[in-house]
Amino acid sequence: MHAPLSYITPSAHSAWGTYLLQVDRVLPYLGPLARWSETLKHPKRALIVDVPIEMDDGSVRHFEGYRVQHNLSRGPGKGGVRYHPDVTLEEVMALSAWMTVKNAAVNLPYGGAKGGIRVDPRQLSPKELERLTRRYTSEIGFIIGPQQDIPAPDVGTNPQIMAWMMDTYSMNIGATASGVVTGKPIHLGGSLGRVKATGRGVFVTGREAARRIGLNLDGARIAVQGFGNVGSAAAELFTSAGAKVVAVQDHTGTIANAGGMDMADLMAVVRRDGGVGAFTGAERIDDEAFWDTDCDILIPAALEGQITVARANRLKAKLVLEGANGPTMFDADDVLTDRGILVVPDVICNAGGVTVSYFEWVQDFSSFFWTEDEINVRLDKIMVEALRKIWDMADRHRITLRTATFAVACERILMARQERGLYP
Ligand code: NAD
Repeated sequence: MHAPLSYITPSAHSAWGTYLLQVDRVLPYLGPLARWSETLKHPKRALIVDVPIEMDDGSVRHFEGYRVQHNLSRGPGKGGVRYHPDVTLEEVMALSAWMTVKNAAVNLPYGGAKGGIRVDPRQLSPKELERLTRRYTSEIGFIIGPQQDIPAPDVGTNPQIMAWMMDTYSMNIGATASGVVTGKPIHLGGSLGRVKATGRGVFVTGREAARRIGLNLDGARIAVQGFGNVGSAAAELFTSAGAKVVAVQDHTGTIANAGGMDMADLMAVVRRDGGVGAFTGAERIDDEAFWDTDCDILIPAALEGQITVARANRLKAKLVLEGANGPTMFDADDVLTDRGILVVPDVICNAGGVTVSYFEWVQDFSSFFWTEDEINVRLDKIMVEALRKIWDMADRHRITLRTATFAVACERILMARQERGLYP
C-alpha cells in the first residue's frame, strides 16, 4: 500500500515524481522482494538547514540547505552537494534516490544521499562561498561522516569546496577525517582521476553501447549539453577516440560546427570565460536549435528535465548518454524508446564519478594511493561489467536499459533490506 509523503507534492514532471514512476515500472521484475518496495519511495532521512552567513558588505543573508539520506541499507550514504539557485528539497530527494540506485547498479557498498544549497555560487565572493560551505557543513555535521554519509562535488561545487568541508568537519571532531568527503584536492587525500571520472564513465558506457549497436566512434558526431566537469571530460575522451563534437550548449549559449570543434581551444575559452558562448571556432545558434542537431550521440550533461516530449520527438541521435542526473522526462523516455533511440540511463551512465569517489574513500582509509592508470583500468572494468549485467537483464525481459538498471539495483537494495530486517 503506497503511503504518500506529506511534505512534498510531486508531479509527473518533477524530479521526485519521475523517480516514483521509474520505481513503479520496475516492480514487476522484483519478484517477492517487491514486498519491500515502499522503502524505495520513502527517504530515510531529510534534513533542512538554515545557513546564515555574513556577506562581505557586512549584511547577513540566510540560505536554505539540505541533506537527504534516501536509503542506507547497503552502507553509508554517498552523493554530491549541489549549489544552484533552483535547488529544492524535492530535487535533492530525487537526486539522493538516484544515488541509491546508481551505487547499487555498480555494486558499491553505499546507500544513496545528496545535498544542496539554494544559492547561485557565481554571485558570491570566494570568502562568502567559504563561509557558506563551512556553516552548511557544520549544520549537517551530525549526520555526515566517513562511516555515515560521504558528500562529493556536483553542479556548482568543486575540489576547493570539498577541502573546506573536510577541514570544517575535521575541526569540529578534532581529528583529520579525510574520508568524510570525496572529490578533494590530490594532496588532501583526493584521488587521481576523480575530476574526469564521471566523464570517463560516460565515455566507457557510451563506447560499449556504441559497439553493441554497431555505431563506429571514429567520425561519430556528438552533441553535448553542459560543458562543465562531466560534459567537457566526456567530449574530450570521445574526441580522442575519433569522434567529433558538432554542437555544445551551456548556460552562456549554444555553438555548432558540423566539421567538429577543437577541444583544446574550446577548453581554453571555458577556463577563461566560464562558458562556451564566446568560442570563435563554431557558429552561435539559437538555444532551441540544439535539439535539432544532426548527430549520432547526444550527451545531456547539464541539469534535470531537459529532454521533454517535444524535444524527444525532434532528436536525430541514435544514442543518448545521460551524463546529467534525470535529464529525460518520464514520458519523453517512452518517446525515445518508441523511436528506437537507445538511452544509456544516468543511473549507470554517470556512475563513473561515484566509483572513483569510492576508490578515493578506500585509499583514504588505507592511506595508500594508486596510480592514475590503476584508477582508470579499475573504473573501466567496473563500468563494463555493470553494463554487461544490465544489458543481459534488458535482453532477458525485453525492457529498456533504464528499467533494467533499476531492476539490477533494486534487487540488491531490497535484498539488503530483507536480510537486515526491520529494526527493532
Ligand atoms: P558543472 O557545474 O561542472 O557543469 C554544469 C554545466 O551545465 C555547465 O557547463 C553549465 O553551463 C551547464 N548549464 C547549467 N544550466 C544550463 C542550462 N540551463 N542550459 C544549458 N546548460 C546549462 O556540473 P557537473 O558536475 O558537470 O554536473 C553536470 C550534471 O552531471 C549534473 O546533472 C550532475 O548531477 C551530473 N553528475 C555530476 C557528477 C560529478 O562527478 N560532477 C557525477 C554524476 C552526475
